[in-house]
Amino acid sequence: MNSEKEKQFDYMKKAGEIVKERASEKGRALTYFIQTFGCQMNAKDSEKFAGILEEIGYVATDGEDADFVLYNTCTVRENANLKVYGRLGVLKTKKKKNPEMLIAVCGCMMQEEEVREKIRQSYPYVDIVFGTHNIYKLAELVYDRLSSQKRVIDVYDEATMIVEDLPQHRKYSFKAGVNIMFGCNNFCSYCKVPYVRGRERSRKAEDILNEIKDLAADGVKEIMLLGQNVNSYGKTLEEPISFAALLKEAEKIEGIERIRFMTSHPKDLSDELIEVLKNSKKVCNHLHLPLQSGSSKILKDMNRHYTKEDYLSLVEKIKTANPDIALTTDIIVGFPGETEEDFEETIDVVRKVKFDSAFTFIYSKRTGTPAAKMENQIPEDVVKSRFDRLLSEVQNISSEVVKRYEGKTLPVLVEQINEQDSSLVTGRLSNNTVVHFEGDKSLIGQIIDVKLNECKGFYYLGSVAR
Ligand code: SAH
Ligand code: SF4
Repeated sequence: MNSEKEKQFDYMKKAGEIVKERASEKGRALTYFIQTFGCQMNAKDSEKFAGILEEIGYVATDGEDADFVLYNTCTVRENANLKVYGRLGVLKTKKKKNPEMLIAVCGCMMQEEEVREKIRQSYPYVDIVFGTHNIYKLAELVYDRLSSQKRVIDVYDEATMIVEDLPQHRKYSFKAGVNIMFGCNNFCSYCKVPYVRGRERSRKAEDILNEIKDLAADGVKEIMLLGQNVNSYGKTLEEPISFAALLKEAEKIEGIERIRFMTSHPKDLSDELIEVLKNSKKVCNHLHLPLQSGSSKILKDMNRHYTKEDYLSLVEKIKTANPDIALTTDIIVGFPGETEEDFEETIDVVRKVKFDSAFTFIYSKRTGTPAAKMENQIPEDVVKSRFDRLLSEVQNISSEVVKRYEGKTLPVLVEQINEQDSSLVTGRLSNNTVVHFEGDKSLIGQIIDVKLNECKGFYYLGSVAR
């Protein structure tokens, strides 16, 4: 029996009583708003926060004029940090108008001592601060704040437990993220994640598969298995299991039609996974394989444990087994010591691999990481010019590559009404390419055969196949 789970449900009830009282004083329901910064893990955590807040009795609203505002923060790049401080400034004015408003901040930034100190001193109107290792405690923290009027700052240095089966409120009815592991052991020299998310911990396969079965029973068709390095999933479990084996088990679950996963570290990608990608009907025809740099020297300084040649031969192996697969990647420009030649190596890999798309990032110096202490930090103007060159190279290649299905008919999972034109719906191919076509909201969540009439760079315009 998971006593922490029971304890937290108890806090949901107790906090719920206070929220109910306040709602009846106000003559309306209390509202909440969550802003998520950063990656899919954070998006997933936010669904858990939404579940807990709704269980307490808060009702979702669209903007920051809410009774409870929660910022789920990211610290991978400095920009993400700056955005949070900016938004907190705006909240100060809102709280003046609604003094009973509660403001909470959580997530990766809060794991950093200097951030907590800054919030403690310069943002006294922030009510609740918590970190990445105690997200399951949200109800308790809300209760503490509601019942004591004192601000609550609660951040753990390390993860202590994984609490299963707390409420979740999914953003989409037909697709869902599923955590398979937490943390990271890789310590890439530029990256803050291992410091703020802690050591790698895998969830038990049984818990993951049960969650997927429940999702399938609830109508979910597409799942995204989430971890910082899914290829090392399961290695430290009492009953070790490989990521490929987990995929094979997930695939057996009836009702699930598409399985995605994120992220694969090239150094740990197994032949067994390549086989699953090739043979599986449900595992999507897409692999996100972060390159970071094409220069073996820079890769070594990044502590990535592969060379340019390793990466290219891995891609070769993957493409030989799955000629149609869409490959996407992450690339960092301007890592300390990156010369023009190193940068050219990156461009060379981009040309050779022909990625369907690439997330390109300007290197951001993060305190506490080994790279921050490296000499030869690259001047901003040089980085900016390399970044622009890389981006245009990536875009040119991707618009060619994405086009390969023009004229074909392929299944599309419809996700939403098109944001610009409400006569269209927007969905994705198995390979993750976006498709827009005429349709209405009754199609959302369905997998429809769509003729891909015209490729517009990184997306398609199509029509329902007849
Ligand atoms: N675990 C994932 C990545 C998580 S962070 C992986 O290894 O692929 C997502 C991306 O942010 C990384 O792939 C990297 O490209 C980028 N990133 C991480 N730290 C960064 C930094 N200090 N500056 C710029 N980009 C960074
Ligand atoms: Fe960061 Fe590297 Fe871990 Fe990815 S694998 S989260 S880039 S340390």
